[in-house]
Amino acid sequence: MSCRSKLAELLPLYAAGSLGAEERQAVAGHLAACADCRAELAFWREVASAVAAEDRALPPPSPVLVDRVLASAQRRRANPFARAWALLAAQVPLVRREIWSASALVMALGCVVAILQGGSASASIIQAAAPLVAAAGLAMLYGPDNDPGLELALATPTWPRQVLLARLVVVYGYNLVLGLAASVGVLAVVPPGLLGQVILGWLAPMTFLSALALVLSMVIGTGNAITVALMLWLARGLASGLRMGTVGAPAASEAAVVAALQAYAGLWRSTGLLFGLAAVLLAAAVALAGQSERLVAQKV
Ligand SMILES: [Zn+2]
Repeated sequence: MSCRSKLAELLPLYAAGSLGAEERQAVAGHLAACADCRAELAFWREVASAVAAEDRALPPPSPVLVDRVLASAQRRRANPFARAWALLAAQVPLVRREIWSASALVMALGCVVAILQGGSASASIIQAAAPLVAAAGLAMLYGPDNDPGLELALATPTWPRQVLLARLVVVYGYNLVLGLAASVGVLAVVPPGLLGQVILGWLAPMTFLSALALVLSMVIGTGNAITVALMLWLARGLASGLRMGTVGAPAASEAAVVAALQAYAGLWRSTGLLFGLAAVLLAAAVALAGQSERLVAQKV
């Protein structure tokens, strides 16, 4: 902590709501003037809300429990890994709840359909479903559409980028696990030797489409971002079909269109390019989150 004010030591108690009126006012006055302490307070609030989520089923906390929580928060704070973990865990109750159940449900359905289908089509079904499910999840990750707690989170200058990255890790990681589980699931009908190929078929497209949906959701809103991601993904299916000649051969005058579609389908198979573009998009998302920090700073 770079702030040397005595008041900074009261931030955990301030976040826990256990200060007297006089001290509370003093801390609030200092917070208005001190960006370091505002950032610090955001961390303590996040810890408090994570703890509250864990303890929701329990009776109201006793003073002993509060002491224990503050002591464990103090330990977490001293350890950067524990601090990062607390930040990640705190995102789980804040992310829109339907992300977890809807993503798992769609992937489970995809897996069942893939197994019933059998043969080479079963891998394609998982490869078509995983990127779309992840993109929808990431479009719902961040922003005023999705986050009742965002106003509070934006009260500090360093916060939005940390929140964005923490949620990204949690939701992308979740979709990664779902995709891997579905890929293992289709081994019921696909030779085990093809597992790596099945995974490679969705991993890069999922990463790129998710990053794109995240950036779009921050610019044009969640619903529009999901629509655009869906259209791009369906167009890829169509273009891949053309390439393989299953959609029917177009007239010669349409050769340019076909060439463009084939190039488009090829893009979705370029693993390195997709990961590179995803990295660029992620940087853009972080920059956009930073921009909302500045807007908030101007409003205050
Ligand atoms: Zn301070």
